[in-house]
Amino acid sequence: MAKNKTKIMLTGDRPTGRLHIGHYVGSLRQRVEIQNSGEYDEVFVMIADAQALTDNFDNPDKVRESVMQVAMDYLSVGLEPGKTHMFIQSEIPQLHELTVYYMNLVTVSRVQRNPTVKSEIKMRGFEGESVPVGFFTYPISQASDITAFKATIVPVGEDQEPMLEQCREIVRSFNRLYNCDVLVEPEIYLPPNEACLRLPGTDGQAKMSKSLGNTIYLSDDEATLKKKVMSMFTDPGHLRIEDPGKIEGNTVFTYLDAFCQPDSFEKYLPEYKDLDELKAHYQRGGLGDVKVKKFLFAVLNDFLTPIREKRAYYEAHPEEVIAALTEGTAAARAKAEQTLAEVKHAMKIDYFESWAEEYK
Ligand code: ATP
Ligand code: MG
Repeated sequence: MAKNKTKIMLTGDRPTGRLHIGHYVGSLRQRVEIQNSGEYDEVFVMIADAQALTDNFDNPDKVRESVMQVAMDYLSVGLEPGKTHMFIQSEIPQLHELTVYYMNLVTVSRVQRNPTVKSEIKMRGFEGESVPVGFFTYPISQASDITAFKATIVPVGEDQEPMLEQCREIVRSFNRLYNCDVLVEPEIYLPPNEACLRLPGTDGQAKMSKSLGNTIYLSDDEATLKKKVMSMFTDPGHLRIEDPGKIEGNTVFTYLDAFCQPDSFEKYLPEYKDLDELKAHYQRGGLGDVKVKKFLFAVLNDFLTPIREKRAYYEAHPEEVIAALTEGTAAARAKAEQTLAEVKHAMKIDYFESWAEEYK
C-alpha cells in the first residue's frame, strides 16, 4: 500500500556550462515547486557529468568547472540542501552498472529511432555513424539514472519526452523478463505554460541551448542581459514602428509569456493593462521593438536580481556548495545501491547474498 504512495523526483542537467533561463522555465522552476510542496518523499537532482563527457570527453576542464557552476545555479534558484539531494553522477558507480544490464534490453534500431537522440546527434554535427557509442546509448544511461532512484516524476523540458518513453519501455521489459516489480515507471512533469515547454534562443532558433550559444544565463549581469535582450530576434517583417507585427515566432513575446509577472505592467509599462493588450497593439502596428525589449529587460532583470544575489553569496562560500554536494551524493549512493541490489536479486546474480541460503 505505502509503496504506491511513494513520490520521488529525479532530474538533472549536463555540466557543459552555466544554466540558462530555458533550464529555469523548462525544469528548475518545477523542481523548486516540487521541493517546497512537501508532497514528495525524496527529491534528487543530478549533475550529469558522465553524460556530459560523452560528447565533451576532450574537454574535462569544461565539465569540471561546470559542475561547480551548475551547483551554484541550483542553490541560487532555491534548491536547498536538506530538502533536495544534489549529487554528482560519476560518484555513483551503481548507475553505470545498471546501464550495462539495461543495454541488453534495448536494440540499436530502437535507439536510432529515438527522436531526442536523432536531433541531438544532428545538433552536434556528428557525421554518419561517427557518433561516440557512449553518446548514442544515452537513453539507456538516462533510464539508469531515473530508475536507480525509483523516480515517479521527472521534471524536464519537452525535448526529453522520447527519453522518458524509452525509459518506461526498459522498466516494463525488465519487470516482465525478471518477473518482478523492482523498477518503477516514471512520469514526465512538463511546464504548465506553452512558452516554457521549449524556450527558444535569443536568435529565434527553436531551442535555447548551451551548445548553440543563444542563451541568457541565470548568472548574466545586468549589462550583459541588456545587450542580449536589445539584440534579440523579433519579427523580421516588422521594419517600421507603424507596421503590423507578428507575435508567433517572435521570441521577445515568447519570453514575456514565460516571465511576465502580475505586477510587471504596473511597475514598468502602466499604459498597458496586461500582455494581451501589449500584443494586440504590436499586431495592429504602432508599437516599436525597442519599447517591448526595454520592458522585457526590466522583467528579466527583476527575475534575475535575487538569483544573482544568492549566487554572490555562494561564490563567497564555496564550502557550503561542496557540503551540499557531499550530503546529496552520499544519499544518492545509498539509494542507488539499494536498487542495484534488488535488480541483481531479480536477475539472479546476487550470488553471495543468496548462496548462503541456498546451500546451507
Ligand atoms: P547541452 O547543449 O549541453 O545539451 P542544454 O542547454 O540542452 O545543454 P541540458 O543539460 O541538455 O541543457 O538540459 C537540462 C534540462 O533543461 C532538460 O530537462 C531540458 O529539457 C531542459 N531544457 C534545456 N533547454 C531548454 C529550453 N530551451 N527550454 C525548456 N527546457 C529546456
Ligand atoms: Mg541538451
